[in-house]
Amino acid sequence: MKALTCVVGWHKWVRRSTPDGTRYLRCSRCGKDGDGNRPHPLAGGA
Ligand SMILES: [Zn+2]
Repeated sequence: MKALTCVVGWHKWVRRSTPDGTRYLRCSRCGKDGDGNRPHPLAGGA
């Protein structure tokens, strides 16, 4: 069961990186991958 915050689209993004150095965002609660192009949900983005 997903956390309610994830259901409503409020994920807990954490910075991750692949072994080749590509950085991306992943939700630490549900495991969703972020595209890295959207404003950080906790940074005041719409
Ligand atoms: Zn999530």
